Amino acid sequence: MSPNSPPYPCRIRTCSALIANGTLCPAHRGKVTVIYGPPGSGKTTWVEEHKERGDLVWDFDVVMTALTRLPRSEKPEECIQIVLAMKDALVREMADHSIERAAWIIVTHEDDARRIADRLGGEAIEVSVAEAVRQERLNERHQQAVGAGRQ
Ligand SMILES: [Zn+2]
Repeated sequence: MSPNSPPYPCRIRTCSALIANGTLCPAHRGKVTVIYGPPGSGKTTWVEEHKERGDLVWDFDVVMTALTRLPRSEKPEECIQIVLAMKDALVREMADHSIERAAWIIVTHEDDARRIADRLGGEAIEVSVAEAVRQERLNERHQQAVGAGRQ
């Protein structure tokens, strides 16, 4: 057996756990929470209320805005695939190299949330709100987008 075959020691020096892959034992891995729900259900707000300083947050809209410098309502089709590929890369990286800090990953669909949570040993949580409230929020966003377009 070569010195580099599993099991590997946990990266935390004082920890005696041995692991098959990754860099941290389950006890030292940051908690992964995958939030899902339709647009306007309050996912981003929910994460803001629950996360702690320094936690990782994946938010499609924030990444899209950072990449394109466009208003939140504008999501160019050709950029959507790029941002989704970035999300896949994040999940892959976190699966291969676990980290100590907690991570919150915001997605729309339950199947996507469960797939990511399973892969990262995390939890999938649904955020929901009354349909009337959700529609009202979407209308507000639309009005803001129309207003921003006029400027
Ligand atoms: Zn450990």
